[in-house]
Amino acid sequence: MRCLITGGAGFIGSHLAEALLRAGHAVTVVDDLSTGSLENIEPLRSEVRFRCVIDTVLNHRLMAELVNWADVVFHLAAVVGVKLVVEDPARAIETNVRAMEIVLELAAPKRKKVVFTSTSEVYGKTSRVPFREDDDLVLGAPWRSRWGYACSKALGEFLALAYWRKYGVPVVIARLFNTVGPRQTDRYGMVIPTFVRQALRGEPITVYGDGQQTRSFCWVGDTVRALMALAEHPDAVGQIFNVGSDEEVRIVDVAHQVKALSGSASPIVFIPYNRAYGDGFEDMRRRVPDLTKIRTLIGYRPTVRLEEILRRVLRHYRRFEADRRLALQPQCLP
Ligand code: UDP
Repeated sequence: MRCLITGGAGFIGSHLAEALLRAGHAVTVVDDLSTGSLENIEPLRSEVRFRCVIDTVLNHRLMAELVNWADVVFHLAAVVGVKLVVEDPARAIETNVRAMEIVLELAAPKRKKVVFTSTSEVYGKTSRVPFREDDDLVLGAPWRSRWGYACSKALGEFLALAYWRKYGVPVVIARLFNTVGPRQTDRYGMVIPTFVRQALRGEPITVYGDGQQTRSFCWVGDTVRALMALAEHPDAVGQIFNVGSDEEVRIVDVAHQVKALSGSASPIVFIPYNRAYGDGFEDMRRRVPDLTKIRTLIGYRPTVRLEEILRRVLRHYRRFEADRRLALQPQCLP
């Protein structure tokens, strides 16, 4: 297959590119490097079946060419991360919605397959766990800017399904639940890379709120495997799937686990939400996917438990921190 990955230099996109190349496919990545980085795809650049275009997915002319080349478009490009979204909601909403419109509009004439990575954020603050794909979406008031992201992604889902029904564009929607692994940066506030960096540098580990809120963290390799299998399965078309892990964990326990596994002396501190994200922030108390639908269709099961995920992320960051220290050392002239 010829695969186009929008946002392919990002954390998940670069892992997906790697896996698709390994499976023998040709891969083109388009990324504006707003949150992705060339470092993520550096090892792939010598592959003959790999191409990387540094540009925005909002460049209609370029995207027309790339979508025309592709058999399948994995649409990952988006403004992500709660921190970025609350800092600049207008940018998040505009980028996410416009990019989706462009991808679908260009995929329509030749009915190119589109795999859209949506998010568990769309479930909002529903208290019914685990979340099922046919559940109602329970979003907060518009003046709480966090919900703009969920809305933009939900709109992407509505649009994708509308294009499937109206123009027969084969779309598959994957709602990703807190994907984690090496290369995920802490720059946009995601919890695991943040805790790991804090622990390794001996800085306070910052738990927001009371730490009793839960999440279910999914190994990036499992996410990528699910996306590829969904892209290939004919019965996935026109459907929405949860992609994640159902191992639910409290954030305060993640902090303790990171501290213990890293052997860090960092204190664990509690920060009120308004100090972390500004006034009027709303978090969801629990987030767990029901995986019945994806398990039934493609036999998907998460393969890596949180403790092992943390060990792997710690190993990655230790190497990264060592390289950083090396780079900071004064250079000795001969
Ligand atoms: N979180 C935290 N400390 C941090 C960053 C995040 O306690 O330094 C919390 C955050 O408030 C949320 C959970 O960890 O309850 C997951 O946050 P993340 O931004 O990784 O993902 P999302 O909120 O989208 O699930």
